[in-house]
Amino acid sequence: MLSVIIPAYNEEKMIARAAEVIAGLLDANGISRELIFVNDGSKDATWECICKLHEADPGIRGISFSRNFGKEAAVFAGLTECEGDCAVVIDCDLQHPPEKILDMYALWEEGYEIVEGVKADRGKESLAHGFAARCFYRMISNATGIDMSNASDFKLLDRKVVNALINMTERDAFFRALSSWVGFKATQITYDVREREAGESAWTAKSLILYAISNITSYTSVPLQIVTMLGILMLILGVVISVQSLYKWFAGSALEGFTTVIILQCFSSSFIMISLGIIGYYISKIYEGVQGRPRYIVSERTE
Ligand code: UDP
Ligand code: MG
Repeated sequence: MLSVIIPAYNEEKMIARAAEVIAGLLDANGISRELIFVNDGSKDATWECICKLHEADPGIRGISFSRNFGKEAAVFAGLTECEGDCAVVIDCDLQHPPEKILDMYALWEEGYEIVEGVKADRGKESLAHGFAARCFYRMISNATGIDMSNASDFKLLDRKVVNALINMTERDAFFRALSSWVGFKATQITYDVREREAGESAWTAKSLILYAISNITSYTSVPLQIVTMLGILMLILGVVISVQSLYKWFAGSALEGFTTVIILQCFSSSFIMISLGIIGYYISKIYEGVQGRPRYIVSERTE
């Protein structure tokens, strides 16, 4: 059986349509399936729509979070709940073309354990967004050693991979990268990103930036290394300035050094503050990890 995991946040307009298209497609091709909608604390009628679908078709299930926990948590909840031999994660807005599930499934039958959907292009997005996304993926790609520039959450995972993922205790999991990190026999298919059919993207500039920072610090200590590099540069600068001021002191014009002292003071204190900030961020991650809070809380489920 194939499990289709569909995270949904404020998608009342898309739930019924997504279920119809995806279930219709799989049924027409004789693939036994279950659909799992994960309502990520929506503020609209998303959950009611899911319950209605479940009444009409028990092969469509749903779980509902007690509040918005974010798409990553929704994906992991779906993976934990699903019972299929393999699972596909797909967006509710149908921006991931559902027909591609058939290709993914065929590859899975051939023996691949992970089939990754790779964007042929990044669809319509603003220049600034595209640039930020490229920088972000370059950092993540360097950290994981896997090219992620066109990676997406649209993936098919074998039961083995699902089990590996749900057994991870990591709280700030970045599904896209983690599912490559686990290894296994993987292949890719490319797809074209479609326009959203209804509703609107839930991402704001602020949430995207926070998401990027969180994922970068989950994967790499590059920011810490930048601080070290800055520290080394500062040391070199300090040596140059010390030599210069000593020279002036011997020459008898010491007061002029006042400027250098001020500059040095400003630089070093700002670098110290930056490094403290970054160290603080890692400590907060450790703190979150130590707390061992659950990744999400389910408040209701169909059945
Ligand atoms: N989503 C979610 N929780 C959130 C934000 C989004 O479950 O906090 C779901 C959303 O319903 C959709 C998918 O994640 O199925 C992708 O979201 P969206 O279309 O807003 O993002 P984009 O396509 O712009 O990356
Ligand atoms: Mg979308």
